[in-house]
Amino acid sequence: MIFVDGVGLAAATVDNPLAELPTPGIHRILGGPLTLEQCRQTDTLLLSAIDATLGIEGLPQSATGQAALFTGINAAKVMGRHVTGLPGPRIRGLVESQNLFQMAAENGFRSTFANAYNQAYLDALATGIRQPSVTTCALLSAGLAFRDFKDLGRNQAVSWDIVRDRFSEQVGQELAPIEAAEAGRHLAAVANRHCLTVYETFITDLAGHGRLGFTAEETVARVDGLVDGVAQGLGPSTTVLMTSDHGNFEESHHRRHTRNPVPLLVVGPLARCFADIESILEITPRILASLGAPG
Ligand SMILES: [Zn+2]
Repeated sequence: MIFVDGVGLAAATVDNPLAELPTPGIHRILGGPLTLEQCRQTDTLLLSAIDATLGIEGLPQSATGQAALFTGINAAKVMGRHVTGLPGPRIRGLVESQNLFQMAAENGFRSTFANAYNQAYLDALATGIRQPSVTTCALLSAGLAFRDFKDLGRNQAVSWDIVRDRFSEQVGQELAPIEAAEAGRHLAAVANRHCLTVYETFITDLAGHGRLGFTAEETVARVDGLVDGVAQGLGPSTTVLMTSDHGNFEESHHRRHTRNPVPLLVVGPLARCFADIESILEITPRILASLGAPG
């Protein structure tokens, strides 16, 4: 599962960087860009537009959207609103009560989070200086190990920025940048060894908000390269699923989230299992069911 923060599925207009900028990797999979017009379903390929508004007014936000995505619980409904940023105690409580990693572990599925963590961040989490993200909270509650800088150096993890340049600056240690497709092949290699592998990147949401200097061009190139590398490296029995928590990046004329649907892109033998999904709420239960967990 590749989670890309802040990517909606919209029509191919001049406002949509996913339509306007080159995406050769996505084109190799879909025969076109990651836009509404490409929605389709075959035995091994699915692109559908799924709801991320969770039935709540206002713009969908990260804390409630990611909690919904990784728990199957409608966190926005529980909170009565969309909650921005990192999850507070109440949403963390929901995530700790059930989440994708924890339920996968309960069913005996070997799972991992492929992102490389920065040791300073882990130290800040341990002392309570930093608050965990939804995925970090899920990983902690499932008792799974964090991949770190050393794993990244051994190509057994992927950094949040995909090509390692910003991650390297962040950790203050020299790490040679890599091609996005190479990062994708590293991710595929991890995925081929696990029942369930999750990777997340939020460069798309940062670019949509105009934060940290990520341009639409470099963001599209990184995500497209990652997807291309994953597709190249996946074994025949592995399925890749890519989705998001809310729209943002797909509308370039403003810097806010959107109420657009988000893409559900599934490539591989389990694609059919996801064909009737209508909302981000259904992703976690369906992944578990597709792996063979009793419903
Ligand atoms: Zn955002």
